[in-house]
Amino acid sequence: MKGAIIPCSPPVCHKQDWKKQLATAITDPGALLELLKINKEQMGKGNAQSLFSLKVPYAYITRMKQGDPNDPLFLQVWPHDAEFVTSPDFIADPLEEKSSNPIPGLLHKYKSRVLTITTASCAINCRYCFRRHFDYQNQSYNDTAWNSWADYIKQHPEIDEVILSGGEPLLLPDDKLARLLQQLELLPQLKRLRIHSRLPLVIPDRITEEFTALAKSSRLQWVLVWHINHPAEIDDAVQDAAKLCHDAGIVQFNQSVLLKKVNDSIEVMQKLSERLFTNRIQPYYLHLLDRVAGVQHFEVTENKALKLYNQMLVELPGYLVPKLVREEPAKSSKTPINISEAPI
Ligand code: SF4
Repeated sequence: MKGAIIPCSPPVCHKQDWKKQLATAITDPGALLELLKINKEQMGKGNAQSLFSLKVPYAYITRMKQGDPNDPLFLQVWPHDAEFVTSPDFIADPLEEKSSNPIPGLLHKYKSRVLTITTASCAINCRYCFRRHFDYQNQSYNDTAWNSWADYIKQHPEIDEVILSGGEPLLLPDDKLARLLQQLELLPQLKRLRIHSRLPLVIPDRITEEFTALAKSSRLQWVLVWHINHPAEIDDAVQDAAKLCHDAGIVQFNQSVLLKKVNDSIEVMQKLSERLFTNRIQPYYLHLLDRVAGVQHFEVTENKALKLYNQMLVELPGYLVPKLVREEPAKSSKTPINISEAPI
């Protein structure tokens, strides 16, 4: 039935082991189309998975509308033929992260923060990902990696915040996360632990009791940055996960990427900000797309982005408007987009 949300099947209706849910993620484009009752003729066969594999857990698929090839969640994961289009402006490493990667698994771009590539894979493969071509080889957390990260951090006393990123940092099971936390807490210069993750959105059961207990007992202040692009991604289970995090004292922010046909309208962005805030997640950044090879079809022009942003300033209270930014290589912070140039 066109427009119907896929009914929740037993594996995701009750709190389930998130690792089992991960293990049954859909990786076959044909199977995804069949589940969603979307026509192969409309969407092609998903051949772009040869460039970047398809991966989407069932808990995320349940929020997509059946029979709708324009569903904004489906578009974020579908290996579209447009990914084969090449352009000299869309390259493998537009942020030149290689030059900020002093030792494997560690990126030091911004003065007081250091980013760790905690795991080498993700729970979902987002087609617009700026790290889709990142060389993850030897770039993940283990005790050997930790020793070199710790040495680096100690040599840079200006670092007071560690960001767990990836890949997907919360793919680390809770016992490993506990070990990493223990190691981080031994560095007196650190004040905050920031986690950038899409896993609590994709599989909300990842927010386990063990996870929230770690946050509650930590001497570091925890910040969780959700990566939510569309209000339809926030279902009841996500709301419950956000509440658990809030109750554990975790400060929650959200960053979105502005994506053509996914969230480039005032109606969607307004609803997203409001839903985030209702769930105690503060809208934080709205990113212009990073110009990575294969993602050109998601790009929203800067002019259109500014126009949309201007509408957000009119429609929303200031505290619900995220900062419009782009990331640029070799800059000491994100670059704010000049909103004084916003067309009315
Ligand atoms: S979860 Fe993040 S790092 Fe992983 S594919 Fe999606 S955007 Fe990229």
